Amino acid sequence: MSNTKYVFVTGGVTSSLGKGIIAASLAKLLQQRGFSVTIQKLDPYINIDPGTLNPYEHGECYVTDDGAETDLDLGHYERFLNIPTSQANNVTTGKIYQSVINKERKGEFLGKTVQVIPHITDEIKRRIQILGETGDYDIVITEIGGTVGDIESLPYVETVRQLLWEKGEENAIVIHLTLVPYLAAAGELKTKPTQHSVKMLMQSGVSPNILVCRTEHEISDDIKRKLALFCNVKKEDVIQSIDAETIYDVPNLMLAEGLDEVVLKKFKLSREKQPELKVWNDFLRKHKNPKSQVEVALIGKYIELQDSYKSITEAFIHAGSSNETKVKVRWVHSESLTVSNFEEKLKGVNGILVAPGFGDRGIDGKIKAVQYARENNIPFFGICLGMQMAVIEFSKNVIGLEDAFSTEMKSNCKHPVINLMESQEKVTEKGGTMRLGAWDCNLIKESKAFHAYQSENISERHRHRYEFNNTYIEQIESAGMKATGFNPKTGLVEVVEIPAHPWFVGVQYHPEYKSTVLKPHPLFVDFIKAALKYSKK
Ligand code: GLN
Repeated sequence: MSNTKYVFVTGGVTSSLGKGIIAASLAKLLQQRGFSVTIQKLDPYINIDPGTLNPYEHGECYVTDDGAETDLDLGHYERFLNIPTSQANNVTTGKIYQSVINKERKGEFLGKTVQVIPHITDEIKRRIQILGETGDYDIVITEIGGTVGDIESLPYVETVRQLLWEKGEENAIVIHLTLVPYLAAAGELKTKPTQHSVKMLMQSGVSPNILVCRTEHEISDDIKRKLALFCNVKKEDVIQSIDAETIYDVPNLMLAEGLDEVVLKKFKLSREKQPELKVWNDFLRKHKNPKSQVEVALIGKYIELQDSYKSITEAFIHAGSSNETKVKVRWVHSESLTVSNFEEKLKGVNGILVAPGFGDRGIDGKIKAVQYARENNIPFFGICLGMQMAVIEFSKNVIGLEDAFSTEMKSNCKHPVINLMESQEKVTEKGGTMRLGAWDCNLIKESKAFHAYQSENISERHRHRYEFNNTYIEQIESAGMKATGFNPKTGLVEVVEIPAHPWFVGVQYHPEYKSTVLKPHPLFVDFIKAALKYSKK
């Protein structure tokens, strides 16, 4: 039996209150006090994972080292905690039902009626405790997706009720995140929505131990007292979470409010050591006091929902801080870029990043953006599809291979410089079948990538089906684009560069997933450095 303590984070009143950031901030404070902590997200939807979701539905699909396609909150967990998450850190209703149904087919419940309680709840319980049972963590924080009262969250809340009862309040607690709205006409903060959402939670037999209240205005002691009285908590357990300038301020705000203190108190864990936040605060100071500014164009087709590129924009923040530079993002919709307007749309930027993506919507705009960066010596960073577009643009416009394309967009193109990986040829199912997760890559010395990483052997995360077609490698290299990173086992090209250009790097993998506050990603740091250099020209 492990002694792991469990914190459940539920949400009330409305979605988008930032449960993920509160969970990550609490985890950070506990981690910096010396506890080992991990965070898990339970998503009530029926998809097995978000890999098949359009980013417009749920924002970016985040990928872990072990190849799980997950909710973007896992990205926040890694960026805050600087420790990798895994398959076990994201559970969906789809996964729960799939396991239970598989067991039923094997006959594991022979003779019994399979029901939500106890079979589905037992499976949720098992998944929640997997991380705790590894013995690696003192505290596991489990964020329950959705809002209390949603039909699909019910089995999760019921599981939390059972676990609270089984483990006792010294080992398991609930933090309920709610909204305390400000009514301008009345000039008042209102507590009723919080009271109602706590009541809703209590109808499921769960009484929150701590309330975290999102608010746009300071919550007075009187309001805290009122909330405490109506919601069965102590006043010190009512924590204000006021709107912050940046999500990276939230750990400090929670520290000032004493969230970590009250959690440790309930768990009867030592509160002697204060959180060590020096490195974190150095990052924040540099982030908030930039000495210069660069503007970088982000070319993508999902830019109406900026969460679709969450890890990329966060990696810019980390790299900006490390260069003491503010990174301003110019969002450019790839579909809006045409032959006649691309110069006007991209004029004045100090760097161009062509984002990952799937399918042919907006492809011509992406190719145009690559061409503009290449011809004007503007630092260029291509990620996954962005790297593939760089290879296509180069093949068309430099080598003169008309009809060079990716077989993803044009299956019968004359020059398939990007084509389907052999391992993908027989794949017909869409879910979880891409080349996913961390793979090794060897970098060629004297390359930009090697210069950035300062290492020949790296490992990065992937999410793709198509690859650089090695039959074109000689032709492409003799024209001036070099392959500088390879998978050591398969020879798959992972990195391409143009050595004659100040900074032109395309990567088949997704560096953005591994950028954290503590370890800004070397390629992002180097790209911003190059953009800064360009801006001073
Ligand atoms: N659509 C491309 C592929 O499958 C690129 C994927 C991506 O950008 N993540 O290879």
